[in-house]
Amino acid sequence: MRQVCFGIDIGGTTIKLGLVSQEGDLLEKREFPTQRELSAAFDDIAANMRQVLDSFPDAMCIGAGVGVPGPVLNQSLVRGCVNLGWGDTDVAQELSRRMGMPVKVENDANLATLGELWQGGGKGCRNLVMFTVGTGIGGGVICDGRIVSGASGGGGEVGHLPMSFRPDWPCSCGKYGCLEVTASATGIIRAAREFSPFKEMAEVTAKDVYDAAAAGDENARRVVDEAGAALGTAAAILGCVVNPEMVLLGGGVSAAGRALLDPVEAAFKKNVFPPCGNVRFALAQLGNNAGIFGGAALFFTQSA
Ligand SMILES: [Zn+2]
Repeated sequence: MRQVCFGIDIGGTTIKLGLVSQEGDLLEKREFPTQRELSAAFDDIAANMRQVLDSFPDAMCIGAGVGVPGPVLNQSLVRGCVNLGWGDTDVAQELSRRMGMPVKVENDANLATLGELWQGGGKGCRNLVMFTVGTGIGGGVICDGRIVSGASGGGGEVGHLPMSFRPDWPCSCGKYGCLEVTASATGIIRAAREFSPFKEMAEVTAKDVYDAAAAGDENARRVVDEAGAALGTAAAILGCVVNPEMVLLGGGVSAAGRALLDPVEAAFKKNVFPPCGNVRFALAQLGNNAGIFGGAALFFTQSA
């Protein structure tokens, strides 16, 4: 009998749910809005899981791996999800009680990193660092095939590494100068806004800044290089700790491709402890499905 597993990514507005085979095929995927009320949200998830399972009567479902936007303890207890308006919630218990199957829970960004390790850009790695560069910076750290989530579930929050590039810029976390304030799309736009032509534009996107840099605009080039330097230095710091085989860059800004990768890699090479320097840099491959694959990987690749 074919073994399958659910990967479920609970976001602030949308829940993504997929059924994944042991071989790594995404058999079915659904998206639906996140119900505001907690028990309604879990009832909704369970109803969708049952409907999906009904279409695969020959499959044996071994569990559900769930990603949530908050710190997670013991693959079960979520310590407050600001985006969802939840307090401490035992997500594993809520779902396993409804479905009668094992449930494991992880932080969504950490889970996306595990998904990339199993079926995406990090395939074949045992040690991986990922930066997801969008409005903010998320990501995760995998050591010896396992997610580093740490003592209070805050492990792998790579966007909040303290950096020296923008010491006066506040971060959403309450600190100043985090990696995220320099190198996220938000940070790139804020830095570019100090110069023409971006100062005068009604709307600026990170892509506008990358395009201008590619077209030879020196200010845009400086902004892009500085964001790359911050990411590359952060990768070098983690490189000395984790000594990964690969560093992956994902998120909206990774659409810039080599224009993002090159300055990051250059800054990494300049700053890394040489014995940890043999690292491949690449783009993440799974996009919005990374969390679904990561959820399934919790069961297919991680022993208890
Ligand atoms: Zn921060």
